[in-house]
Amino acid sequence: MISTSHLEVGQQPSGEPARVPVITVEGQPGGPRVYLQANVHGAEIQGNAVLERFLALCRARPPKGHITLVPLANPIGINQKSGEFTLGRFDPISGENWNRQYHFNNRDIEAFCHTHLHLSDTEVTDAFRQQLTAQLAARLDSPWGVKTGQHMALRLQQMAVEADIVLDLHTGPISARHLYVPEYARARAHRFNIPLNIVMPSDFGGAMDEAAFSPWWQLSQQFAELGRTFPVQVDAFTLELGSQEKLDIAQAERDAAGIARYLEVMGCWPEGTHNVAPETQYACALEHYRALYSPCAGQIEYLAPLGQPVPAGAPVVRIWHYDRLGQDTPLFTEVSLPCDAVPVLHFASANAQQGTELYKFLTHTEAL
Ligand SMILES: [Zn+2]
Repeated sequence: MISTSHLEVGQQPSGEPARVPVITVEGQPGGPRVYLQANVHGAEIQGNAVLERFLALCRARPPKGHITLVPLANPIGINQKSGEFTLGRFDPISGENWNRQYHFNNRDIEAFCHTHLHLSDTEVTDAFRQQLTAQLAARLDSPWGVKTGQHMALRLQQMAVEADIVLDLHTGPISARHLYVPEYARARAHRFNIPLNIVMPSDFGGAMDEAAFSPWWQLSQQFAELGRTFPVQVDAFTLELGSQEKLDIAQAERDAAGIARYLEVMGCWPEGTHNVAPETQYACALEHYRALYSPCAGQIEYLAPLGQPVPAGAPVVRIWHYDRLGQDTPLFTEVSLPCDAVPVLHFASANAQQGTELYKFLTHTEAL
């Protein structure tokens, strides 16, 4: 059973509500609660296509569980155009990243573990979710108000906090498909069939995936210190499904199948219901996910194809200095890396100042 509604996440200066569509798939009982959102960054539109293809899979083979889909999750960001480009990565007023404004405060976790130490896993899960829900409501009700981005993030998070599985669909600038994997969920991450994987620790930095998994992960860690085993109850991933400003429906169909394949092991469908042609997968720890900053300004020729391993010492960018044209000095600078690496994404422009983040690379790669 599929139904659609709208949720208000803010208000425009004109008084118009900023609303997001909310599509609910009420599947057979016995499956997990799943929350998927796309396009929190305005230019990252590919996730909407993935949600559309994913909904088609749900229609074709009704899943178990309760699935919520939120495409166009940032109605302010998607409308943030400048010339032909979409901006929408940062709130234009505050300059803050739309995906760093979710809420989690771990102050109460230690006390919670002591008072709930001898309750069952189910009782602990229910009580902890209630506490998280209450924290979000209290934050929204602050007598001092919250910022535009925090208000929107909190409204989305109120839906996500109900879920056992949270998937936040993004893209890079010019980017290969990659996945942020919380370390504890590593064993099932390969099911997404995403080639490049970054394995994350339990820290909270304000992003949706962290806001979903950090509380549960830190709860599990805190219980472990008290001698109790309490499995992490929530899985959350950020999927980076290609490049911004780009819609690729054929790839969206493959990624929707990858998501469904992952959800098979979480109980939404029988194992083997969905298939995708397997891709070679690389992984590295977040600390080994490295940015390359431009040593000088110039016009950039990106030499390293995304997703293809490059050896140490091979040139990855050529920086042209057309201001030297007609002079006797070298017209370009080549930059190479100190170690083997796999390029994940690069800057969207070929015009850079000194210090621009030109590329990001997996280094010290290992099997997922
Ligand atoms: Zn993004």
